[in-house]
Amino acid sequence: MNAPGQPAKQGARSLDPHLRRYAARTAGMTASEIRALFAVASRPEVVSLAGGMPHLAALPMDSLAAEIGDLVATEGLVALQYGSAHGVPELREQICDIMALEGIRAHPDDVVVTVGSQMALDMVTRIFCDPGDVVLAEGPSYVGALGSFAAYQAQVVHVAMDADGLVPQALREALAAVERTGKRVKFLYTIPNFHNPAGVTLAVSRRAEVLEICARHGVLVVEDNPYGLLGFDGQIYPALRASDPDNVVYLGSFSKTFAAGLRVGWALAPHAVREKLVLAAESATLCPPTLNQMVVSRYLATQDWKGQIKTYREAYRDRRDAMISALEQHMPDGVTWTKPDGGFYVWLTVPEGIDTKAMLPRAVTQRVAYASGTGFYADGLGSRQMRLSYCYPTPERIREGVRRLAHVLEDEMQLHLTFGPTSGRAVSGPQGPSPDTA
Ligand code: PMP
Repeated sequence: MNAPGQPAKQGARSLDPHLRRYAARTAGMTASEIRALFAVASRPEVVSLAGGMPHLAALPMDSLAAEIGDLVATEGLVALQYGSAHGVPELREQICDIMALEGIRAHPDDVVVTVGSQMALDMVTRIFCDPGDVVLAEGPSYVGALGSFAAYQAQVVHVAMDADGLVPQALREALAAVERTGKRVKFLYTIPNFHNPAGVTLAVSRRAEVLEICARHGVLVVEDNPYGLLGFDGQIYPALRASDPDNVVYLGSFSKTFAAGLRVGWALAPHAVREKLVLAAESATLCPPTLNQMVVSRYLATQDWKGQIKTYREAYRDRRDAMISALEQHMPDGVTWTKPDGGFYVWLTVPEGIDTKAMLPRAVTQRVAYASGTGFYADGLGSRQMRLSYCYPTPERIREGVRRLAHVLEDEMQLHLTFGPTSGRAVSGPQGPSPDTA
């Protein structure tokens, strides 16, 4: 039994009667720091710059409701029935039209509809990675992808980025270093456009080089591109997949351009890989939800979806502007950040000695939340970084959140000057709930 007042965390784990039954791969399955934060984020007094929830209030709910109602009334026997693991054919054709905007020429047969691109990440890892295989990923990288890689016991080796995205020379060096260990690199996982969490975009001039390096080393590229149509100036970058259809698996999603709750995404894969993906999808879900796919398909056919994306882009640009100008106005010297041209995120670096994970409970006490950088690395880095999302709060709330965060950082930097590094330091005064428990 725990002594009164003692946390029950350790005890709770050993009380699990199933502990000895779990497969070894569950050891890598831990709650993401982001998920824990969603609970904190939902408290109204906290300005959450933590989660990446899209700005759904921009959707035309009434006309969507009418379309969905009509869909069930007129095509319910199909929409509410099982479908194929491959996905609804009309939707796969429409997906090809969308990808054509990025220069991709694809056949609908090579598109596999998935339950969000998260499921595609899971499937790609499942079909390619044995335990101990290496996946290269930008450092930092998308937390949900790192979760999939961990679940299949793949080892992640991070590749450095700069303001122009993945650094080709760092990719060469990472490949050479892994090859020296005798391990196999199964694929490079990359988010070329409006990176989550780094907010940067892979320079167009680097794209051919990245593809060439991977092809020369026999490494597949997994291109994850949920934000590609959310460039603030309407700019659309050429997909990696457009230049190398045989060596790139492309992942897309309707979560950011339409509605995340529908959970409709897709993978476009070289022909042989597509077969394996369909089998993997079948064993996971039998088929993706038919109703949701038909809702997306009808939305694309009947609504001004390009106009909707423009509306989203403008809202996100206003919010990005609010965040950047508030950062410029309030942040103390020594704090730096990226300036995204699209997408949802700013990546912030704080001065040496400040630990963003240790600081988070104090920030929550001051009614602002962020995602600390460590969740975006598989190797423990990121303690001097944090991700700030501007997608969900209003510009006013963003400005207020950044103002609060700047105060927390100023206090922290003052404490650091007086007492030394923040990590592990006992905190006096009121403590906010830990994001793990809130
Ligand atoms: N990839 C990236 C880079 C993401 O940011 C997200 C969502 N945050 C996903 C994949 C998963 O998106 P979904 O499953 O909603 O399509």
